[in-house]
Amino acid sequence: MLLEIHTDTGIIGIGECNGPPQPSKTIIESFFKPLVIGEDPLNVEKIWEKLYHHSRDYGQRGMPIAAISGIDIALWDIIGKALNQPIYKLIGGGFRDKIRPYATGLYYYKGNEKEKLQEEAKRYVREGFKYLKLKIGKGIQEDIERVKWIKEAVGDKIFVMVDANHAYTASTAIRLGRILEEYDIYWFEEPVIPEDIEGYKEVKAAVNIPIAGGETVFTRFGFKDLISNRAVDIAQPCISAAGGITECKKIATICNTWNIPCIPHIWGTNIALAAALHFLAALPHTPPSIYPIEPLMEFDRTIHPIREQSTKKPIKIDSGFVLVPQEPGLGVELNRDIISKYSV
Ligand code: MG
Repeated sequence: MLLEIHTDTGIIGIGECNGPPQPSKTIIESFFKPLVIGEDPLNVEKIWEKLYHHSRDYGQRGMPIAAISGIDIALWDIIGKALNQPIYKLIGGGFRDKIRPYATGLYYYKGNEKEKLQEEAKRYVREGFKYLKLKIGKGIQEDIERVKWIKEAVGDKIFVMVDANHAYTASTAIRLGRILEEYDIYWFEEPVIPEDIEGYKEVKAAVNIPIAGGETVFTRFGFKDLISNRAVDIAQPCISAAGGITECKKIATICNTWNIPCIPHIWGTNIALAAALHFLAALPHTPPSIYPIEPLMEFDRTIHPIREQSTKKPIKIDSGFVLVPQEPGLGVELNRDIISKYSV
């Protein structure tokens, strides 16, 4: 769901909410919008607290927080445009101006799955990707088969992550993870349901693969539990779901405090991608080092007509890196023809 916030100076901010669009639209129009009208967009944190406080008793997680996230992103777009600066320069400044993406794709095919998955993986390598993420979660045997196909297709120099989208119990995830250890998996994402913090801890303790999770965890309060329990090795807040730029900055600070890298979940149109790029540009190294490991950017490569054409210009890629927009605000402009074509 995309939204705009219009101001009395004529500046318009764009935001995006992750998840099913209709509930976010309803929540914003019927509940949050009257709380935002009349506020000064520069008071972005004050507005965040106001919206969260008013919805806390029946919000806290899920779609109400996605709705706040979209509003927060739009407010930051307004602030950047008003001050004539890209957002990342206003939230701490640039640690980097380009981000190494990893390809998200490698879903499920009906028929000839091995050939199709291998061809897809090879295409990403030809396009310059050094990291690929594969969907798993259909059972141990099938998952192992899929990992073998991808490894066979791309060789040892390409890093492969697996994402179970919380398909397993801790015991199954441990059995799977122990077999996957020999395939040099870069991370194992969402092995168990997000509510099962004890399960995460069991998997993390038993499997010698970094455990990632957090795309279905919301706000600093959700990440407080995930991080202070050391339930993950890599935390993955979603900028357009977990609370927007304002809240994800706080989540990143919690991660940094516990020495746990933050690599955001990224999904949706170029608006969500741009918001995440600014967040990533201003993300401190965790841990800091003379030779720090740079955060990666999730880059969904599945075919999606809205994402590709949502902005007038595409997200720029140069020599295998995604460039952080340098124009004021989010630095991207809505393609209104496409928006009206696909609007519901
Ligand atoms: Mg995921």
